[in-house]
Amino acid sequence: MKEDILHNISVINERIRNACEKAGRDIREVKLLLATKTVSAERIKIALEHGQTLIAENKVQELKEKYEGLKDIPHQNHFIGHLQTNKIKDILKYNVICIQSLDRLDLAEKLHQRLLTENRTIEVLIQVNTSSEESKFGVDPNKAIELTRKVSQFSTLKIKGLMTIGLFSAETEKVRQCFKILKNLQLEIIKENIPNVEMKELSMGMSGDLETAIEEGATIVRVGTAVFGARIYPDSYYWNEGKKETK
Ligand SMILES: *Cc1c(COP(=O)(O)O)cnc(C)c1O
Repeated sequence: MKEDILHNISVINERIRNACEKAGRDIREVKLLLATKTVSAERIKIALEHGQTLIAENKVQELKEKYEGLKDIPHQNHFIGHLQTNKIKDILKYNVICIQSLDRLDLAEKLHQRLLTENRTIEVLIQVNTSSEESKFGVDPNKAIELTRKVSQFSTLKIKGLMTIGLFSAETEKVRQCFKILKNLQLEIIKENIPNVEMKELSMGMSGDLETAIEEGATIVRVGTAVFGARIYPDSYYWNEGKKETK
């Protein structure tokens, strides 16, 4: 188990290195984030004890369950799942430094209110639905700049960039289009020069498409399966859940 995880991480690092080389990018520009949904604290710990520092959950419940088991090992927690507003109070208990899945104004407003009462700030990425798939969360690309502008007015939310889940497709060029949309949005937003907005981070690319994402400018790749193995739940369990109710 330990050997598998460590071997897989070295393979991923090699893939990242090769992709950076091919794209003429400095490897220090690309961070590896481990997507740890369904993975036990014990297995996550192996990665954290061997040089990994950045992990992310999709559900507040899992964050909570693994919190005790991981809290003594230095690491950074991001959140990459759909966040329901009734979970805001909860998520703020577990040391999440960045919510990558900020995709709507009411969530931003409620987060801001809560953060004000706790007298603290949090980093966020704006999640964009670049694949136009009904089943995925994220703001429509046409509305992303407007949302960024509105979120920037909440002093407790520190916008650091954008996040997307690319199209699931074996056709690399179609997947690449998603990443290009995100990159172009980043450039447009930088041009707008919005106060309180940093646009350094582009979180895109997963086990199957990280090379393409790096070629298109990713600064954070989110990898689960390729490190921890296949999950028993289909991803739709994490990505579609609650979708209808929130529309
Ligand atoms: C699960 C997940 C990942 C990682 O996906 P893999 O294909 O397992 O690498 C990345 N991003 C998000 C938002 C996820 O939910």
